[in-house]
Amino acid sequence: MAVAIEREYGLFINGESVEPTAGEVRDVTEPATGAALGRAAMAGPEDVDRAVQSARAALAGAWAKTSPTERSRLLHALADAIHESRKELAELETRNVGKAISSVKGEIAASVENFRFFASAIATIEGRSHAVGGSALYYQLREPVGVCAQIIPWNYPLMMAAWKLSPALAAGCTIVLKPDPATPLTALRLAELATDVGIPPGVVNVVPGDGPTTGAHLVSHPGVDKVAFTGSTATGTEVMKLAASPIKRISLELGGKSPNLVFADADLADAVPSSVYAIYYAAGQSCDARSRVLVEKPLYDDFVAQFTETAKRLKVGDPLDSETHMGSLISRTHRDKVHGFVETGRDEGVEIVIGGEPGDGDGAFYPPTVLAGVETRMVVAQEEIFGPVVTVIPFEDEDEAVTIANDSKYGLVATIWTSDPARGPRLAGKIKAGTIGVNTPYTAPPGGAFGGYKQSGFGREVGLETLDMYLEAKSVLVSTSRKPLNPFGL
Ligand code: NAD
Repeated sequence: MAVAIEREYGLFINGESVEPTAGEVRDVTEPATGAALGRAAMAGPEDVDRAVQSARAALAGAWAKTSPTERSRLLHALADAIHESRKELAELETRNVGKAISSVKGEIAASVENFRFFASAIATIEGRSHAVGGSALYYQLREPVGVCAQIIPWNYPLMMAAWKLSPALAAGCTIVLKPDPATPLTALRLAELATDVGIPPGVVNVVPGDGPTTGAHLVSHPGVDKVAFTGSTATGTEVMKLAASPIKRISLELGGKSPNLVFADADLADAVPSSVYAIYYAAGQSCDARSRVLVEKPLYDDFVAQFTETAKRLKVGDPLDSETHMGSLISRTHRDKVHGFVETGRDEGVEIVIGGEPGDGDGAFYPPTVLAGVETRMVVAQEEIFGPVVTVIPFEDEDEAVTIANDSKYGLVATIWTSDPARGPRLAGKIKAGTIGVNTPYTAPPGGAFGGYKQSGFGREVGLETLDMYLEAKSVLVSTSRKPLNPFGL
């Protein structure tokens, strides 16, 4: 089905696009040009209530009892549908988020893989049974936790929706997904595709809206059993409080300030361009952005020079041009926030080697920026800037590299560049982060559990461990005794 990109998008509740009860419909813009891209409905509290009700009804219906093989078939069918719609989705996502289409194409391919992974992972859902002694049989049932509220940010709207929906669907849960109000379009299309392939109405509901109102209402809703949140650590803190009453299961994928350790023995032909990729991919608006590059002292000046020369070759511009490496940021407001951090760095005495000035024009462009001479306790080395700004910090030896790497409230990802085969595994045991890369900038292959230590959150995405977040383990104990047990001897 060909779908016009410039259209009005309703809320997606109970298998169909519906108007919001509160009647609010907003323009959705293209951050690279400032032009309108379409109009999308925003959910008010009554709409959230409707969506939760629809998810509860679907859970009580056939869905939670659908056979695992049927759920697997549907997840594969959805993967096929995303693949078949990849051109339309790529254009829609690129125009809505402003990031380079080359990045978006990779994210769509990863989303397809994600649905395929969980389609297969369904076969691993099994309850233990073990000898408990006496005349008793013990076994477990794995059951879906129920209705899941899933809240996602604007930086990877489709891929984050895929990360959230695929394990929940595999487990047999039903979902109310709240995308960011600025970037709701691909999540809404994904829900339409889910319905087209035969996932029953009410299983996937999508309610874009503002966080403190729509999002908060959803998180605290008594009809929700589990909250899965991806976003900033500050919002995650609020969400955790809101999810406490009434008690809900919760998982949080939060911010990062991830280190990229470059040792003097690293193969620079790989370490330099890969380190450039690791920060400037998605214009630095990525939770796993390696925004702290730690470099062994003898290499420091040479590395900064090579890194800067490579970063200068990045093509920044039209997100829809397949040659573009970096598009615009999500909004001019966000761009100003990023620039504010650079100004703070200037005040802190860092050297701005390249970049550091916002682009002209209507788009929210910011150039690749390198801050050198950075010390680990500076604001620019501690706070998540979430833009194309890298801080380069020198270290003396391996011990100091680990100390600086761990000198952060975050612990999402770390990357190590070295030609010493023992060093990567040695440091992997010492650095407090959920994912460690050794001589690779990549962080989240399908099936590789992804998530945080410390204030980067808890719970794991895209791995088999993720299924546990969406399943209850129910213990069943059966007496096999021929005689009454009569424990009190009455
Ligand atoms: P954000 O926390 O501002 O918003 C995330 C989502 O939460 C949005 O949908 C927003 O509307 C909603 N929200 C805001 N306030 C809320 C509230 N009170 N109750 C319920 N929902 C609320 O984050 P952002 O700026 O959109 O995204 C960037 C952040 O996300 C960065 O910190 C980034 O590191 C993080 N992130 C983490 C991962 C990961 O896997 N760890 C992945 C992507 C992004």
